[in-house]
Amino acid sequence: MTKQELNKFKVTLENKQAELLRVIVNREGIEIEKSPDALDEVQHATERELAIRNLDRDSALLRHVRAALIRSTDGSYGVCMHCEEDISPKRLQAVPWAAFCISCQETADRNQALGQESFDDMLVSA
Ligand SMILES: [Zn+2]
Repeated sequence: MTKQELNKFKVTLENKQAELLRVIVNREGIEIEKSPDALDEVQHATERELAIRNLDRDSALLRHVRAALIRSTDGSYGVCMHCEEDISPKRLQAVPWAAFCISCQETADRNQALGQESFDDMLVSA
């Protein structure tokens, strides 16, 4: 990967990081109203759960983006963290924070689907 290509990915990652931070901060500011109505309570609980799930997902993504930014400064960006092969440029275009090549990712996804231990929490589904 050329320095120019790396810089382009870096800009993409930095933008993504800023976007996620904005979303996460906004969401944390949302107050969930208390309601005397039991049905509303259920509705609010569901909304709260959904908000928490989204927050979890965005926080996880933010971790991946940050990890990728760190790799972009130490020279390991674009290299699979599992088999150390180069990650294909096409995959990086689609998932700039990818930490694994497609075949390692597929193995990890399969293991995860089977409920087995995944490599670690670096996994992101494209
Ligand atoms: Zn790999």
